[in-house]
Amino acid sequence: MASVYIALGSNLGDRAGTLVAARERLAEFVHLRAASRLYETEPVGYRDQPPFLNAVVAGATDLQPLPVLHALQQIEHDLGRRRSFPNAPRTIDLDLLYYNNLLLNTPELTLPHPRLHERFFVLLPLNDIAPHLLHPRLQQSTSALLAALGPPSGVREWEDARWVAGESGG
Ligand code: AMP
Repeated sequence: MASVYIALGSNLGDRAGTLVAARERLAEFVHLRAASRLYETEPVGYRDQPPFLNAVVAGATDLQPLPVLHALQQIEHDLGRRRSFPNAPRTIDLDLLYYNNLLLNTPELTLPHPRLHERFFVLLPLNDIAPHLLHPRLQQSTSALLAALGPPSGVREWEDARWVAGESGG
């Protein structure tokens, strides 16, 4: 089994409901063992769009990396994501952050996710469940990467009874 960390984001419609639905789909091929809290975050990149809800989940899977990516893309498709332009609003965005300590750089899949260390909306929820996890390329922990970004801005904790953070979260 491989250890995987997956980031979830939504900024259209019933955001928390979509994250819960995505997590249920992830559970079909990832044995989920931890879920972060929810965070509401200002959009990065194309800024004229609604705020996101973000979270990170962790678990173990039998799938190889590319099949994991393809399963994430299938869930994005099924939950109604329509790709219009880069950084456009999306019902659901799923990113594979880590697959064990694997370093990979292919046109389709880069591991660790190439921008995870620049983003509060990834590092804050990741820090909830894996503060000591070492980034295999940068050789820094989640909490160190987070501290390097400085004081968080444009991010706040969010609560929704349907998403209960903790052991498996569902
Ligand atoms: P986005 O629209 O931001 O979700 O980016 C999706 C694109 O990023 C897809 O074409 C993927 O093949 C590519 N990609 C590369 N590395 C990753 C990764 N670690 N997780 C998710 N998508 C990735």
